[in-house]
Amino acid sequence: MNAIAVKNSVTLETLYEINESSDEQVKEAFQTARQGFQDLKKTTVKERVEALKKVRDAIYENRELIVDKVVLETGKSRTDALVSEAMGVLDYADWLIANAPKILADEKAHTPLALMGKKSKIYHEALGVVLIIAPWNYPFNIAMVSILTALAAGNSVVFKPSEITPLSGLIEEMMSASPLFRQCVNVVYGTGLTAQKLIDQRPAKIFFTGSARTGKKILSQAANYLIPVELELGGKDQMIVFEDVNIERTVAGCLWGAMTNAGQSCTSVERVYVHKSIYQPFVEKLKEECAKLVLNSGDDGDADIGGITADFQLDIIRKQVDEAKSAGANVIAGGEMLSDDMPFYLPTIIEDATTDMTVLSQETFGPVLTISAFTSEQAVIDESNNTDFGLSASVWSKDLKRADRVARALEVGAVSINNVMLTEGNPALPFGGTKQSGFGRVKGAEGLRGMTQSKALLVDTQSAKIEANWYPYTRKKYQLFSQFIEALFGKGLQKWVKFAISGLKLESESQKPRG
Ligand code: NAD
Repeated sequence: MNAIAVKNSVTLETLYEINESSDEQVKEAFQTARQGFQDLKKTTVKERVEALKKVRDAIYENRELIVDKVVLETGKSRTDALVSEAMGVLDYADWLIANAPKILADEKAHTPLALMGKKSKIYHEALGVVLIIAPWNYPFNIAMVSILTALAAGNSVVFKPSEITPLSGLIEEMMSASPLFRQCVNVVYGTGLTAQKLIDQRPAKIFFTGSARTGKKILSQAANYLIPVELELGGKDQMIVFEDVNIERTVAGCLWGAMTNAGQSCTSVERVYVHKSIYQPFVEKLKEECAKLVLNSGDDGDADIGGITADFQLDIIRKQVDEAKSAGANVIAGGEMLSDDMPFYLPTIIEDATTDMTVLSQETFGPVLTISAFTSEQAVIDESNNTDFGLSASVWSKDLKRADRVARALEVGAVSINNVMLTEGNPALPFGGTKQSGFGRVKGAEGLRGMTQSKALLVDTQSAKIEANWYPYTRKKYQLFSQFIEALFGKGLQKWVKFAISGLKLESESQKPRG
């Protein structure tokens, strides 16, 4: 079995090793999850919500332990870990607990006149075993949000964390707070190889968060089995700043949006467009505030920016910035490592980047932003939409009508107005992308329903009545159907009288036996 070293991402010392899962372990995980699903299937949403409350309480009680583990494996700053990993999950769990019963309740649906006397309903049912594959940047948040959603909807889960940040045992520990969910969440460790074997077990759905590169591979493997796939992929998020903003606040939002989690966030700000008339003062203030940011990990909550978790990601960041520099872009802050021996990349601001540079055309996923000036609303819409990605964006202006107009024109899955990355902060809002940023939605009613399949019901009464559209077909019935259609779909004042007469005639004709 192939051992994988899990490292302290700052000191690079090995914390522990995980093994690539064997074929047997993969099969066993699915067997257990399938058994777990049979039990969960019999539960009500209310019972599952009670179980969710226990997990939520365990997360609340253990929040500092969660932060410790996350910081160790990711190298992120302590505040980043506390707010986005622990608080973010608690907030979402509370939303789920309060809203799942309503969103998953059986629904009455409208029954049209032509089906008079019948009733229509929709049930929102679980899918089965959902396979969740996660990345390393928010290893606790992304795991728990997707797992809790799947469970609330009545699915059991096989979960594969990133091999870079497996948080070994932590998810299992939190789930053990609820006996109901014990068999229903099976964590399987390993790399993409293990993930491929898991897909071969034919889960009912694959919920994937990660890079577009891997998303394409998963989609193609899943196509062989016609497994539905949800893809939450990367971004190149734009921030659009009009001339009427408060510069200090907008600069503070810009820096946080670009540098939070050291920029290793799918929705971090990567491209900033500022109206020409305030461009110079905006850039000056941005540089000034950027210079004050504190880089550290293993801190007591007083560092702004942590380390870069994955060494290959650090290579991508360095390569993109170095290429931009040599192609003529102007690096006005950062642009290098804090030191040679630690994975801290200085917060970086780049001017004069062009779309042929990877720093503008590809996801950077680091503490790096590009900035440029724009002159008109339409020009900034066109320029910022000119990307393969479409995850989220922010628009900043006192003129809310204009901000709304721009928000509608942006080809993205979410827009924060006069704030940044805040759509994600509201668990009631759906989260997901367009274009190469993926498809499907997590969170909100749409995200929860995404873990279900609807079952349509039409209930008729038990009687001797033969339906008009059943056999036998006769010429008489055909004429009556024509009159009925004319009455039902045509126009005119006599419509309802005609409808009643032709309906009654059709009904009576339909009760006559053949011959
Ligand atoms: P990645 O695609 O390299 O890996 C993600 C997961 O996929 C890991 O668990 C990995 O082991 C697994 N994997 C690798 N090869 C696989 C294969 N062939 N089949 C199945 N699974 C395979 O991504 P990453 O580097 O871990 O994460 C960073 C990326 O995730 C960035 O692009 C970021 O934008 C994106 N992301 C998106 C969101 C979102 O919600 N849209 C959130 C966080 C991160």
